Amino acid sequence: MVARVTLELALRREFDYAIPAELAGRVEVGTRVKVPFGHRQVLGVVTALAEESTHTQLKPITKVIGAQSLVTPKVLALARWMAEYYCCPVETALKSVLPEAVRQEKDGWRELLYVHALTPPAEFPKLTKRQEAIWQIIEEWRELPLQELQRLGETTAETIRKLEDRGLVLIAPKVDERDPYAKEQIVPTQSMVLNTDQAKALTAIEAAMLALAKPPAATKEPGAAATPGTFLLHGVTGSGKTEVYLQAIAHALERGLGAIVLVPEIALTPQTVERFKARFSSGPLQTLVAVLHSHLSGGERHDEWHKIRQGRAKIVIGARSAIFAPVDPLGLIIVDEEHEHSYKQEESPRYHARDVAVLRGQREGAVVVLGSATPSLETYYNAKRGKYALLELPSRATEMKLPVVRVVDMRHEDTKGKASVPIFSQQLREAITQRLERGEQTMLFLNRRGYSTSLQCEKCGYVAGCPNCSVSLTFHRQSQRLLCHICGHEEPVPKKCPAPQCGNPAIRYSGVGTERVEDTLGKLFPKARVQRMDSDTLKRKDDYRRILTDFRLGKIDILVGTQMIAKGLHFPNVTLVGIIHADLSLHLPDFRSGERTFQLLTQVSGRAGRGDVEGEVFVQSFTPFHPAIQYARRHDFLGFYDQEIEFREQLRYPPFARVALLTLKGRNEEKVKFTAEHVRKWLDEHLAGWKDVTIAGPAPAPLARAESFFRYHLMLRTRAMSRLSAELTRLQTELALPDDLTLTVDVDPVNLA
Ligand code: ADP
Ligand code: ZN
Repeated sequence: MVARVTLELALRREFDYAIPAELAGRVEVGTRVKVPFGHRQVLGVVTALAEESTHTQLKPITKVIGAQSLVTPKVLALARWMAEYYCCPVETALKSVLPEAVRQEKDGWRELLYVHALTPPAEFPKLTKRQEAIWQIIEEWRELPLQELQRLGETTAETIRKLEDRGLVLIAPKVDERDPYAKEQIVPTQSMVLNTDQAKALTAIEAAMLALAKPPAATKEPGAAATPGTFLLHGVTGSGKTEVYLQAIAHALERGLGAIVLVPEIALTPQTVERFKARFSSGPLQTLVAVLHSHLSGGERHDEWHKIRQGRAKIVIGARSAIFAPVDPLGLIIVDEEHEHSYKQEESPRYHARDVAVLRGQREGAVVVLGSATPSLETYYNAKRGKYALLELPSRATEMKLPVVRVVDMRHEDTKGKASVPIFSQQLREAITQRLERGEQTMLFLNRRGYSTSLQCEKCGYVAGCPNCSVSLTFHRQSQRLLCHICGHEEPVPKKCPAPQCGNPAIRYSGVGTERVEDTLGKLFPKARVQRMDSDTLKRKDDYRRILTDFRLGKIDILVGTQMIAKGLHFPNVTLVGIIHADLSLHLPDFRSGERTFQLLTQVSGRAGRGDVEGEVFVQSFTPFHPAIQYARRHDFLGFYDQEIEFREQLRYPPFARVALLTLKGRNEEKVKFTAEHVRKWLDEHLAGWKDVTIAGPAPAPLARAESFFRYHLMLRTRAMSRLSAELTRLQTELALPDDLTLTVDVDPVNLA
């Protein structure tokens, strides 16, 4: 027998190895192995088995890693598809499907020495008083960690070994599983009685699960084929989508099937995890819920992953990469907040977890539910065309109404000759005052950290810019530094203009960040308890949690933050939400900027009025009549969709075409530009006569320089991405680039900067 192995070397090829007799039966597709390669030993994954090889004199596999194959054939097939579609080597795709902690050669279990009580011999051995006392503890526990026994019995390992010599106990290593949530007190919850809309949605999902008993044929592109199995659950915030997910999962479990729940990393709060654990940790369905996200230690991730692989945990909740969890058989995949851009991985393999989810569902006969209050244009378009079934929850589940949204026209705010731009409008100030008087809470949102975002000389016009990137430096007052948000470059704040021959001491700080909002609040409302939450204030692991707990307990009146506070949080006493600068995301050089703004405003607004008092939202804007702002104000997703889809069609942007973005990076701008033109020539030649492809560029990227690298873009659009992917893979292998340049290919990009 011969095993075909892909090595962890990104070589874009596979190698044949012989399976030695002593490993026969232990090598299957998906097995992790160690093999000789040149003078080295490297790790890899078996991707196929064959009777014979075209090569002679095969070297044998050195070692099999793990007791069980780590990559299931289904997940392996998914990795292969990813490699083709997202233009990367198979081994790069395989790296994503197995967490680092699981890929290690050494098995990652933590073992502890345990003392086990044995049946005493017929003639009970004679013990000293001391030994007698320890034996009594052991008899009571039957089995306990050696260290624990030493502590309880105030004794040494040596003394305990004596009991082993007498045949009373056995001391042996045992796997000790880590549980990241071991300290949590979780109160079990029961299913709620669904309202009519929820019940309708659940019935449709259950019916699809029944119908999908047989998996359909594999397909090539995400969302390419109509299945009866993919749903868009479009429900306003607070409409009870999560309750539908929970009951759909319960249904899958009853049928003996597992479920994967994807949540954006930022929304994967303890609160969210608890909701799932609380429903399934007790009762007739009692099952383990595994959690996979980036804040787990390597060891915790290792153990969580193996709980799934061994079939003990049938429900997985996690961020992006949890889509590869080896749940088998899989009955249901839920992608909550499906429009979130964090589902896209920004390094190779540049996969989009939502799209992988749809594809995996189709291949494994699992139902896929994409949930959102503001679906992406792509997904909603698919639902309208009947590719996905549309389920709607148009109103909030409880009696609560959606908040009233007021757009404040900042162009008419009286600045009274002070700072050029006021941070708080008169209306928002009054609304905050009211909340403080009533003992209600306020959340203020600004997606920009720091104090001010540019530092400019009033005399000569000098702007403090990053030496490595084409952006200006942000002033951070607390640390008294100028900081680049792209590369992290730091420098002290100049006392006077550093431009030669200027030296003017009057330097103007403009552009507002969260630090300045916090500062101004302190001046306007000296008695209010204000807390800022952004990546600068979260230094320690539990800061996030601590701040949110304080807020929940009412120890904070006003919470100021970046997008971190926009997602998934739920505080009944928040009755006011203010968006300081709604236009920020509108002016990004990205065809999705309108969509992003609409989504953000809707999300942030959804934080208000989730308790007994109706919520109010103030949106401060300099372009108050922009459709993204006006439709968000009216909670009108359909209105927004209809006008936005027209624009996409006219300009042939997704969902009317798929995009591939090519980026060339290097330190020498001329060389980057020249090579980019060379790439363009290659494309023109190789794609000649193919009508469905348009190529734009090369042109400098919107972020023209980052971390001292110049960046050039080419954008390709087509309806047949699988075919284009194949060509782009060819481009990557055939085109010899200078050593100091890199070319990245991003299929279905979400970030165009
Ligand atoms: P979403 O996920 O759509 O934002 P949630 O599932 O968080 O909404 O539900 C919002 C609130 O409504 C929660 O407090 C939830 O407990 C409650 N809720 C959901 N469904 C029902 C129901 N059928 N009856 C009563 N309350 C419900
Ligand atoms: Zn920089």
